[in-house]
Amino acid sequence: MKFDSVIIGGGLAGLTAGLKLQSAGKQTAIISTGQSALHFFSGSFESLQEAPEEMKQLFSQAGIRLHYSPGVRLMPLGTFREAALSLEDIDLFPKASFGKKVLIVNLLGYHDFFSSFLAQGLEKEGMECRIRFINLPEMEKLQLSPSEMRAVQIARIMDRIWEKVIQEIRLLLKDEDTVVLPQVFGLQDASVPSRIRQGIPARVVFAGTLPPSVPGIRTQMLLKKRYQLLGGTFLMGDKVDKAHLHEGRVHSVVTQNLDNHYIEAQNFLLASGSYFSKGLSSNPFGISEPVFGLDIDFAAERGNWYSPSFADDQPYMAYGVKTDENLHAIKDGKALENLYVAGAVLGKTRPEFGTAAGMAVRSALAAADNILKASEL
Ligand SMILES: Cc1cc2nc3c(=O)[nH]c(=O)nc-3n(C[C@H](O)[C@H](O)[C@H](O)COP(=O)(O)OP(=O)(O)OC[C@H]3O[C@@H](n4cnc5c(N)ncnc54)[C@H](O)[C@@H]3O)c2cc1C
Repeated sequence: MKFDSVIIGGGLAGLTAGLKLQSAGKQTAIISTGQSALHFFSGSFESLQEAPEEMKQLFSQAGIRLHYSPGVRLMPLGTFREAALSLEDIDLFPKASFGKKVLIVNLLGYHDFFSSFLAQGLEKEGMECRIRFINLPEMEKLQLSPSEMRAVQIARIMDRIWEKVIQEIRLLLKDEDTVVLPQVFGLQDASVPSRIRQGIPARVVFAGTLPPSVPGIRTQMLLKKRYQLLGGTFLMGDKVDKAHLHEGRVHSVVTQNLDNHYIEAQNFLLASGSYFSKGLSSNPFGISEPVFGLDIDFAAERGNWYSPSFADDQPYMAYGVKTDENLHAIKDGKALENLYVAGAVLGKTRPEFGTAAGMAVRSALAAADNILKASEL
């Protein structure tokens, strides 16, 4: 199999780069083991306030709308966090405008939304909270097994019966100025949360649940769908095991499922994420990148990997693959000519790209740009 570019990792960074390259007319493949950080995504792109123009375009073509307004968003435990660029269904508001009387509505039998912790958090902020549950016959099947009562399964049903949810909440609402609901709406149709807002005479805020994240899964589905629509090849559930290198270039990679095939490309992009996605791995002696054995920027003394204070930024989270200024990966001190790196596998080695999801997008756009420039030469 031969492509213009092969991308290892189908999270936010891999998909963003894939969309840019595919939109530029390149033939690409994304190979991705499985879950990415998008499955846990809050819906806010930390370190971004405004979307880079290309991100705006690529995401809106995929059907993803973004917004930012200065203020805060509500966190799952009733605290507030400064706003960042967010998906359309994430509420951002000036903190002072959050109501004083709050109705928290959960679904009967759903344990991945911590309504009482949420109420405690809000009460510490001086708000008065009332918790109520709604029970809808459409949920009965899921309620039979707690393992079925998960955000995505519920969202599949909620997208069909959101009008009933509005009716139920209107019956519960007394004099509250704010209603907080679990973020289990808008899996297939991102406009459902705003339709619920329109139907309820109070501010409606959706608060995060335990994973999987409904806005994150929707984002992944839309980016992937658009990528495939543009002709990209998505090899889901496969893992790049090893790579063949020759004279400072990557010739091909081999995957677990296609172990008799060399997957060749002019350029490769490593977007395999951090420890969480196994893009980086650690043992007592060091930190490594498992596919290419790339050079990692980390403290040699293990005692320096952690900060004794749990609440501090942990130094090991900053470690990542070393790159040159064009995001070429470095191996044994030398840049690999056709291997680029983007996203969380970089750790915080490239602070100019920001942090978290903002960094994943910015570095992916930059790496794709460098790949396009290199392929013109
Ligand atoms: C749990 C969690 C939640 C987060 N939430 C937020 C948030 O809400 N907002 C925010 O701004 N930032 C968040 N972040 C930071 C996060 O790093 C970025 O948001 C971003 O999504 C990372 O994207 P990525 O594509 O670089 O990596 P990932 O999303 O980790 O994707 C990497 C992908 O590569 C695949 N992969 C790895 N190795 C191989 C291999 N050998 N072969 C094939 N595939 C492979 C993995 O299976 C995975 O699908 C979160 C991070 C984590 C870990």
